[in-house]
Amino acid sequence: GDAAGSVLKAQDMVKSFGAFRAVDGVSIDVRDRSLHALIGPNGAGKTTAFNLLSGILTPDSGQVTLSGHEVAGLSANRIAELGMGRSFQITSLFPDLTVQENVRLAIQAGDPARMNPWTAATGIARINDKAREIIVWVGLAGMENAKAGSLSYGGQRLLDLGLALANHPCVLLADEPLAGLSVAERERVGNLIKQVSADIPVLLVEHDIDRVFSLADHVTVMNEGKVLLDGTVDDARNSDAVREIYIGS
Ligand code: ADP
Repeated sequence: GDAAGSVLKAQDMVKSFGAFRAVDGVSIDVRDRSLHALIGPNGAGKTTAFNLLSGILTPDSGQVTLSGHEVAGLSANRIAELGMGRSFQITSLFPDLTVQENVRLAIQAGDPARMNPWTAATGIARINDKAREIIVWVGLAGMENAKAGSLSYGGQRLLDLGLALANHPCVLLADEPLAGLSVAERERVGNLIKQVSADIPVLLVEHDIDRVFSLADHVTVMNEGKVLLDGTVDDARNSDAVREIYIGS
């Protein structure tokens, strides 16, 4: 990040669908070594804000800065090349390929030297080493040769995180990574995300408020397209306004 420790910074993002402002002047500052949660009731605008940050949608106005680059208006692919990693609720893995093949593909897809025959030989050894490192990191050691599609749903979410991290992004956007998981899997994936955030800052959208409060360092609460609160977990926990929107929804 820059001197101030800001890795991903959005200022005054606005996005309308027709006459409806789904995101209405939202600012978010994701800083180095933080697990930053974006929460709020259904319809608050979290997904739209996420899509604005990653380039799936272009803001009508406002700035998005990723490690000092202005990225608003760039394509999602270009933003990914500049270091934004994304983990999706719908996984992006290839079910008929093995765990190792999936990770290798993700590494190669982000490697600009992949088409260069002069670097290919050393490249393959490096890719294998890196793939092993990622597989161990996400807790799938021993499963290298299993077809991705044969993993449990939790295992697939772990692999999906591994793919998002394959090219060491400068920030990870995780959209409801715990959705649909068992209690034990939630624990495992939640802990992994916490561990990741020590290295790579994470912006997390998550519905499980108790989990968010136990994991996050920083919380942005959205409601009706606006930021209702931006602060620490304790700030969010102790806010009457936050309690009200959750009880009201
Ligand atoms: P959240 O993720 O917090 O549930 P969303 O960002 O998905 O909220 O949606 C915010 C609001 O914007 C909702 O009222 C939703 O119906 C509306 N919305 C989202 N995407 C579109 C779209 N493509 N066209 C029209 N309205 C949309």
